[in-house]
Amino acid sequence: MNEKTKFILNETDIPKYWYNALADSPVAPSPVLNPITLEPVTPDFLSAIFPMPLIQQEVSTERYIEIPEEVREIYKLYRPTPLIRARRLEKALGTPAHIYYKYEGASPSGSHKMNTAIPQAYYNKISGTKALTTETGAGQWGSALSMACQFFDMDLEVYMVKVSYNQKPYRRFLMETYGAQVFASPSDRTDAGRAILAEHPDSPGTLGIAISEAVEVAVKSAGQKKYSLGSVLNHVLIHQSVIGEESLKQMDMAGEYPDVVIGCVGGGSNFGGIAFPFLRENLVNGRKTRLLAVEPTATPSLTKGVYAFDYGDSAKMAPIVKMHTLGHDFMPAPIHAGGLRYHGMAPTLCTFYDAGLIEAIAVRQLGVFEAAVLFSRTEGILPAPESSHAIRGAIDEALDAKEKGEKRVILFNLSGHGHFDLTAYNAYFENNLEDYDYPQELINTIPEHLPQVKLDTPV
Ligand SMILES: *Cc1c(COP(=O)(O)O)cnc(C)c1O
Repeated sequence: MNEKTKFILNETDIPKYWYNALADSPVAPSPVLNPITLEPVTPDFLSAIFPMPLIQQEVSTERYIEIPEEVREIYKLYRPTPLIRARRLEKALGTPAHIYYKYEGASPSGSHKMNTAIPQAYYNKISGTKALTTETGAGQWGSALSMACQFFDMDLEVYMVKVSYNQKPYRRFLMETYGAQVFASPSDRTDAGRAILAEHPDSPGTLGIAISEAVEVAVKSAGQKKYSLGSVLNHVLIHQSVIGEESLKQMDMAGEYPDVVIGCVGGGSNFGGIAFPFLRENLVNGRKTRLLAVEPTATPSLTKGVYAFDYGDSAKMAPIVKMHTLGHDFMPAPIHAGGLRYHGMAPTLCTFYDAGLIEAIAVRQLGVFEAAVLFSRTEGILPAPESSHAIRGAIDEALDAKEKGEKRVILFNLSGHGHFDLTAYNAYFENNLEDYDYPQELINTIPEHLPQVKLDTPV
């Protein structure tokens, strides 16, 4: 135990290795499939989309991967991030629990996304890529990659989900300031976008559609442009492991060890980032930390989705992976969970969830904003709506500990700040937000929307 509130590491404590949880997976990873043949992908197919070093990381089962010095140099701009004990929140809740949070909003772009944007830009640069394409929903990923591309002197095209493009102009201005080109998706720049617009001229867009557009531009660029994804894939989760590795050292400084580690999940990258190093301690060193993923009831891919092979995007151009999914043509309700509206979930995370090594819950929007406001008023940081799902989870754990009279140690990841999300806060204060549960009738139809995969060796 320790009287300190903030646990700060030195630059020399920035991890030198990323941790790859696949090395400790109880089951072999399922193959990635070609969306046209429904057979395992060939390296040729993937190399039209990603540079070779990232493809190698995607399929690697090495436990540790060295972080290039060029990447660590840029990490120094904001890493190690602080770990903070939420003493004023504990007091407001009257809980005997100790609540700690890792603050990834301390990065220049405001979220954990830079942890992978920097290495993705780096590996593309050294592989000769001239420009990157990507999608962005709420804008956090687009902002992070815009900055990273600027640092490595590469162009970037961002396909931004149209509803966010209109609702969050300041995110777009930020990306443009960093030097990116931003297009509202669906756009008329791609076959995928034009097909959607012909059928639904007023389409608000989805992440699945924006991914299709960005992948199409890369595939048709004759090797000049590659595509970059900010979550879901294993190389992204590998890069995010710096969050958990630093947290382990910082909990040690605090003289405590977490009973439960919590993160919000959209595609699973910030949760995997903080939780997987603790999962390793569970699997390898006999620790017993609970790992809790928190998702919105509006997009309940882990708690209600089907565990099956599905396309990564709407237009069926991105690879097929085995994951918990709501179906690649999922249309999210217009809730404010921002970056938590992807139809699927990181396959690596799903593997551990399926094996019972990770827990998941779904929480409703109003309770999430209630938690966000309480956190702002006690701890001072205005959290991103996405991150506030983790705060809701942490508060509920602290209240449960209070009821049971337990001194529980809770660690959660505060994945980003919400300075660009104040319209959503305002909507909450004006009572314009509603709870929404993704309807069971739609969940029942998910299997009809999945590709009919028949593999020689069933997985
Ligand atoms: C993108 C984002 C998320 C969701 O993505 P994950 O891959 O699940 O981490 C969560 N929080 C913030 C702040 C984000 O920008």
